[in-house]
Formats: sequence, structure tokens, C-alpha cells
Amino acid sequence: MHNNVLQLSGLESVVVRSDSNFINIGERTNVAGSKRFLRLIKEEKFEEALDIARDQVEGGAQIIDINMDDGLIDGKASMEKFLFLISSEPDISRVPIMVDSSKWEIIEAGLKCIQGKCIVNSISLKNGEEEFISQAKYIQKFGAAVVVMAFDENGQADNYEKRIRICERSYNLLIDIGFPAEDIIFDPNIFPVATGMDEHKTAAIDFINACKWIRENLPHVNICGGVSNVSFSFRGNNKVREAIHAAFLYHAVKNGLSMGIVNPNLLEIYDDVPKDLLTRIEDVLLNRHDDAVDALLEFAESITNTEKTEVKIDEWRLKPVAERINHALVKGIDKFIVEDVEEIRTTFKLPIQVIEGPLMNGMGIVGDLFGAGKMFLPQVVKSARVMKKAVAYLEPYIEESKKGAARSAGKILMATVKGDVHDIGKNIVSVVLACNNYEIIDLGIMVSADKIIKAAIEQKVDAIGLSGLITPSLDEMVFVAKEMKRNGLNIPLLIGGATTSPTHTAVKIDPEYEKSVVYITDASKAVTIVSQVLSKPKDFETDIKNQYRKLRDGYFNKTKTDVFIDLKKARDKAYQIPKDYIPPVPLLKGVHEEKNMNLNTLRKYMDWSPFFWTWNIKGQYPKVLKNEAAQNLYDEAQKQLDKLERRRDLGIHGVWGIFPAQKKGDDIELYRNEDRTEVLDTFLTLRQQKEKKSESAKYYALSDFVSEHQPDYTGCFCVTAGQFFEQEAQRFKAEGDDYQSIMYLALADRIAEAFAEYLHERIRKEYWGYTPNEKLTKEDFVKENYRGIRPAPGYPACPDHNEKTTIFKILDVEKRIGVSLTENLAMYPAAAVSGYYFSNPETRYFALGKIDEDQLKDYCKRRGISVDEGRKWLRQNLTSI
Ligand code: SAH
Repeated sequence: MHNNVLQLSGLESVVVRSDSNFINIGERTNVAGSKRFLRLIKEEKFEEALDIARDQVEGGAQIIDINMDDGLIDGKASMEKFLFLISSEPDISRVPIMVDSSKWEIIEAGLKCIQGKCIVNSISLKNGEEEFISQAKYIQKFGAAVVVMAFDENGQADNYEKRIRICERSYNLLIDIGFPAEDIIFDPNIFPVATGMDEHKTAAIDFINACKWIRENLPHVNICGGVSNVSFSFRGNNKVREAIHAAFLYHAVKNGLSMGIVNPNLLEIYDDVPKDLLTRIEDVLLNRHDDAVDALLEFAESITNTEKTEVKIDEWRLKPVAERINHALVKGIDKFIVEDVEEIRTTFKLPIQVIEGPLMNGMGIVGDLFGAGKMFLPQVVKSARVMKKAVAYLEPYIEESKKGAARSAGKILMATVKGDVHDIGKNIVSVVLACNNYEIIDLGIMVSADKIIKAAIEQKVDAIGLSGLITPSLDEMVFVAKEMKRNGLNIPLLIGGATTSPTHTAVKIDPEYEKSVVYITDASKAVTIVSQVLSKPKDFETDIKNQYRKLRDGYFNKTKTDVFIDLKKARDKAYQIPKDYIPPVPLLKGVHEEKNMNLNTLRKYMDWSPFFWTWNIKGQYPKVLKNEAAQNLYDEAQKQLDKLERRRDLGIHGVWGIFPAQKKGDDIELYRNEDRTEVLDTFLTLRQQKEKKSESAKYYALSDFVSEHQPDYTGCFCVTAGQFFEQEAQRFKAEGDDYQSIMYLALADRIAEAFAEYLHERIRKEYWGYTPNEKLTKEDFVKENYRGIRPAPGYPACPDHNEKTTIFKILDVEKRIGVSLTENLAMYPAAAVSGYYFSNPETRYFALGKIDEDQLKDYCKRRGISVDEGRKWLRQNLTSI
């Protein structure tokens, strides 16, 4: 197989590789496919149409397809307007866009509106080579990727031979004009199966075989398709459609399909499709026998959408012991593992053989299922727990027989870098790797470069994995890479964590270290990458160095397009509070504590969706509970909370304050008292500077939300879930129960966020009291549908973590509630939230975006730090990262 890397970007980048899992493209923002979207666009209800886009992204779409091809709307104008609106919605525009149209003028319009690297869907040889080439050249000018339909002058390719011939011809033409092969995505036409017509019997298998041929013969390209088409004959029967999609994707992805336009909410897990249905579906897809279609049609009629098969729970206990062990590992059941292991132990000569044989075997199955996307992370972590319990039971026997430990696949050192405290992501990756037989040396959090290097040398590790959540950790990782080089290390360096990116890795870290440096998106990718890095270090290194060189080149070409307006001009275009607007006077000013909150109250304020994201399960609560892994996880979380909810000694504390304040340019000055003469401290804010299309557009800074003409106020807060959860997590980890450990850390995050929500409500209704009669539902809280905001330093409107120092000082946070700041200004314990309060009804969250050098200088001067230091804190908001 050829390696293929297609890099796309919205606000965040998406890298499509032949070894990445399937990339799904949201299909609901397509007027041809969604009646609701069409109606909204027709009625010009663009805001509601945006919600559909947002739903897609939240539902797990990694790219969104936008199509405005309908006779009754002005497609070009609608496309422009919609793209324009999306560009100011960071939660949507973080994913790349696929501009989908059969009209060239709409594609042209789309290309002009989109900032990141998008995909054009589509061009083809329909009208001959000349048009095809000129369109491709145009697209290339914009640096976009392109979907090429298997269509030529004679029509759409509908069999294997036509598919591969047209794709080959298109490929050669594109390569001849210098179109980058990795930017080509073939769509070899997915057609419906089970239509009843004989000539459609090979529709799916021809597509699948064509994928295989393309993957093997046309280097570097990707393959995509409109997946819902395949099940078109079963409209109205979602259960069967989901199952067909699952089976179709399973085979097509195996053969090279790397992206698909799907409804992410209509996807079933391959292994969850009942076997009798699956067989019939695969008979049809793979055209396995002549009566396949009739058999499926007949069977489908008997399936209602509510059907559930009853399984007797303990039936598996009757199976042979090796199978029981597999079952326990795959299902994460630890109840019988000790007795099963004991039973099997007596059949081996050496206890170590139990690990090397049946236990490794079972974990192998788990690894394969996870790798194939058939198992979810929490399930894997539970499997690891069963494994550890089994190994712990065997250890005394192994000691006795003095035969050493099982050979591992490799030794990986994991650490969260100096100044950073985020543990969960690193722990999850560690567990997943451990499940795959890697030995993990976990150095924990806040680990300095010299400690990392010393341990790596002493323990002779095979690779180092670094994790980081906050911006300054990016520089720390660069430093670790330099130190690895200086100390002559020659093992691969793996990079991960929320603040990291392929671009930063390629541009800043890779050049500092001669061996492989590789960015890992998330735990699901870790195993594949680590096994490649370790098994073929030379090949991998050449390959990854090449990829990152390309990424760097792309980066240096792209950033030149950023256009900024002068800081002074941006300030002139600030949002202005009307001069005569009278801000509400807080009922309670000064600094106050809210100690020993009870969990019971906070449970009502919990937003559960991010809890599932922590566990790598995409989707929104409560819809996500349809996923069995999610439901089990949720039940477990509730059980833990039930246990703890009456306790008042968990150390869940908060502190907040509201102070007289005034806007002073881009600063907010806080005063000790109402005569506003003595300055208490100053919040420094940053102003948007990237040029906006409209002349009348505002360039926001948070200071704009405080009046400069009338007496106004600004608040701030810090809340924490306390030490208890952190300690419990460590205890569980030490006991080998990673599942509970991660569970406690994830719950602690939820508690801190819920507390922030709860406290904000009290501020609005009671303490500041500007909306005393506010009545909101849980949904309103989740969507933050209330007056005022609580932006948090380190987030898009105020990315500088230094502001936390100010907040911590004026609220005396460490002394009052025991949260401290690390040298790089991460909060410890990690389950803590801090931020400002603004009351103005016009306040909004925005993303600062990139700023220009003039502002960087001005800002550093105001803060009293050197520009070099400023770069470290604002790295992600500078043109040169
Ligand atoms: N309900 C979520 C809340 C966290 S995300 C949870 O339980 O995890 C939303 C929070 O992130 C906001 O309350 C705000 O504090 C912060 N935030 C979001 N967008 C922001 C922006 N653009 N600038 C600053 N802070 C932002």
C-alpha cells in the first residue's frame, strides 16, 4: 500500500492517512439530501441552518459537505452567505469544508470564501479533458483538494472496468499538470444494492474492488463516496440501513475507502449487527449467491426498528476456559478472571506461559477490535483492568518459578511536560499501549526535560511520549527535543495533547531532532503509529520526515496570506458600549468564598457530553447513550456520584469577586472601592486584528465589554473539585485500576465545570443580581443561553495564561481554596476552572485569532515582559508559531 497524506484544515487541521481510521463527512448540510436544510435555506433561516452544521460537527463529522444545488434557490448567493456565516462560528469552522456542487460557478464562489484548506466536490471528465484540466488548475491555485468523480464523456462509470479506467485517465491528466497526488480524492460511485435489477447485483462489489485497484495503482490518492446511496432501496428502515452501511464500510474501508459522506448518527458497529442479518447483507454486497437479494428483502421485512435480541448473561461461563478468558478480556468482566486464570494455570508448565499464551491472545483480540474501530476506549480500558488483575494473580507464582516477566513489544516512556499537569490523555494512551503489550514507564506530570532524558537512558526505553495541554508546553516540548539531541538520544519522540498539532510538530519540533518525531492525534492512533515506529524505524523515519517537510512547506506558504489591520485601526473599530448605558451595580462586591459544595447540588449542572469525549466517544449527551459503551460508562459514573453525593468533605471549593472596573483601551482597570481612585489591578486583553471582510465589522477585545463612560464592574472566579478525586485517581492507578483512575479524573473535571456553571448562575441571579428572575433549563445551561459570559484565560478570547496570575492574586486563590499555579501557569489540581465575569448583555465569546507583531510588542510592554517571552505565551496566536 502506498502511503498517502492529505492535509486539510478548518481552524484545526485534519490529516487523512491510509492508516487513519475512516474519515466521515457530514451530509446533512446538503439541500439535495436534507429536506429540512433545503427548507431553511429557502426561507433564509440561516441561523437554524447553522445549527444543522453544528449538529453534524458535534455528532462526529470530521469534515462537512455543503451543497446548495436546488432549482428554487440562488445557489451561489446561498453558498457564499452560508460559508461566510460559518467562518465566524469557530465550533463549526474548526472542521474543514467540502464545497459540493455540480455548478462550476458555485464552486468558484465557494473557493473564494473559504479560509482553510478545503475539498472541492467535484470535477470529472464529463465535458472532456479541456474543461477538466482548466478546472483542476483553478482549484490548484487555491491549494484545495478535489474529489474526482468516475464520470467521462460517455457517462458515469457503473462497472469495475469503467471505474478504474476513468480514474486512471483522470489521475494521469492531473499528475501531468502537476496537481499534487495527495490532494486527489476519487469517488468511484456508490450505487444502491438490492434494487431487484440484475445489473445492479455487482454494484457494491465492483465499487469495493475498484477501491482496491485505485489504492494499489494510483499512488497517494484518497478515496471517498456517498455511503447512504448504497442502502437507498431500504428507505424507511433505518435499522437495516445502518446495518448495510456498517457492513459496506467494513469491506470498503478494508480495501482503501478512506473517507465517506455519511450521516454520523446513522452508523452501527459492524460487530453489533446481528449475525443473521449481517450474513444476508454481506451476501448481497459481495454478490455471494443468486438469491441473495430476495433473501435480504424478505428478512428485512421482518425487522422492526425496536427489535432486541435477548442474551442469557451467563451462558459464556459454560464455554472452555480459554474462551472464557477471551470473553472476560473482550467484555471487560473481572468477576471470574482469577478463578479462570487459576484453572488454566494448572494446565501449563510455567505460570508465565499463561500470560504469554491465553492472556496475550485475548488482549490481541481486544487490540484488533479497537484498531478496527469495533471497540471503544472505555471498553479497552476495562479490558486492561481484567488483564492487570490476572497478571497480579499470577505474579507470586512467576516469582516462585523465577522465570522473569513476559517480553514486551517495547518500552515507552510517557510524561506530561514541565509546567503542565494534564494527566488523563497521557494515561489513556498509556493504557491503550499497555494493552498492546508495550511496557509503559509513566513519569507522571510536570516532568522536566532532564528527568525525562535521565529516565530514558537509565531504563533503556524505545520511545518517549510527551503530553501537554497548555500553550507554553509547546515550547517545553521543543526544549525536550533539543535536549534529546544534545544528549545523543536516538529513539523516536511522540507528541500528543490538546495544545499540540501536526503543524507545530512539523514546524517547531521536528527540525530540532534528527530521529522520528511524530504527532499522535489520539489514543486510537497510538498503537498503529508506535508499532510502525518501532518495527521499521528507518523507513518510518524517512517517511515521517518527508511528510513533515511537506507540512512545513505548506505552512510557510499559507501563512503569508494572513492580512492584519493596524492595532490602532483595530482599536478604532472596537465594539463600543453605548455611552449612556448604565451597567448593573452588584448587590455583593468584594471577594467571597463558596466552600465545601455538595455534589448533590452540582449534579444538576453537569454537562455530560465532554465526559464522553474524554473517553474518545464522539457525540452529544443524551443521544450518545445509544452507544452501549457510553451507556455503561454513564451508569458507572452515576454509581460513583451516588456514593459520594452526600459527602461534604470532598474539598469542592470556590472563590469569586466583583470589583469596580473601567475600560482603559485594551485594559480593564479594577479599583479597590467605589471612588475608583486606587487601582487594585489590571486585566490585560488582546484585540482581534485579522482583517474581516465587511467594512463595518468589529474587532473585539474583552475590554470592550466594560464601559469606559459609566461606573462598571468586572468579576472573576476560581473553582476546584479539590484534592480528593486527584488522590483517589492516584490510588487506583497505583492499584492497577486505570479504569477507575481515569473515571475519577474525568468526574473531577465534570464537577469543576458544573461548579463554574452553578456559581455563575448565583452571580447572575443573586450576587451581581442583574437577572434575578432567570429561569433556565439544563439545555440552556449547556448552551450558555444567559446574559453575560465567563471567559477563561487560555481559551480563544483570552489565550494568555498570565491573566491567571492576576486572578489568583486578587482572589488569593491558593490560600483560600488550595489551587496553585505551576511555573507555566497550569492550575493544580487539574480539575479547576478560573475566569472572568462580564455582565453586559452584548458580551459574546469570540476567538482572538492571530495577532500581528505590533500588538505583540504593545502587549508585552503593557505586561512588562520581553517580546521573546510574550511569544511563548501567545505562540498559537502568532503568524509564525
Ligand atoms: N459545559 C462545558 C463548559 C466548558 S466549555 C463543560 O462542562 O465542559 C465553555 C467554557 O469555556 C465557557 O464557559 C468559557 O469559560 C470558556 N470559553 C468558551 N469559549 C471561549 C472563548 N472564546 N474565550 C474564552 N473562554 C471561552
